[in-house]
Amino acid sequence: MSEHEKSSNVVWHNATVTRERREQQNGHLGGLFWFTGLSGAGKSTLAHSVEEQLYQKGFRTFVLDGDNVRHGLCADLSFSDEDRKENIRRIGHMSMLYVEAGIIVLTAFISPFRADRENVRKIGGVDFHEIYCNSSLEVCESRDVKGLYKRARAGEIPDFTGISSPYEEPEYANLIVDTASQLENCRDEVLSYVTEATRK
Ligand code: ADP
Repeated sequence: MSEHEKSSNVVWHNATVTRERREQQNGHLGGLFWFTGLSGAGKSTLAHSVEEQLYQKGFRTFVLDGDNVRHGLCADLSFSDEDRKENIRRIGHMSMLYVEAGIIVLTAFISPFRADRENVRKIGGVDFHEIYCNSSLEVCESRDVKGLYKRARAGEIPDFTGISSPYEEPEYANLIVDTASQLENCRDEVLSYVTEATRK
């Protein structure tokens, strides 16, 4: 049974405080900026560093981070292909509720499967922007921020992206950032993209 069949008697409630009014008050549009890439590619670092800059300029922002979401909303999901798909579906819908609230959402999820990201693009429409944090497996593995690559190589973590589970590079990324290079350059590149995309 699909999600729609289970909730066929539910009607969307229209708010009087609309997205347009919120955006008017905020002085910028809402939008979903979806960072994808290998573990250690720099998604979280970049998302938070872009958010810091936007916040200082008075933008309404929020970062949704893979690990945080998996502690609560998606704590029941594993890293199997099926559960990764469900993880991304839930996050896609949740992100769009934030966008509806006029917020600039920056998400940091590996989201390795193209089809899952394209699903979020369908949910988000023109509000969805795919940002590919492009860094080679070698660079990510040498960073090994959380020591996960070492454990994955030792066979301690099943379905680890890049080692025992594939990462499918984006075909239609809105922005490709070379995250093996200087962080400040990447931050400024993303910052100007986001600022332009959310200009009223
Ligand atoms: P991810 O969220 O993709 O798993 P993290 O942001 O947790 O990756 O870790 C990326 C690591 O790489 C951090 O230690 C960060 O300081 C470092 N780093 C070096 N250069 C960059 C860059 N250009 N962009 C983002 N992170 C970078």
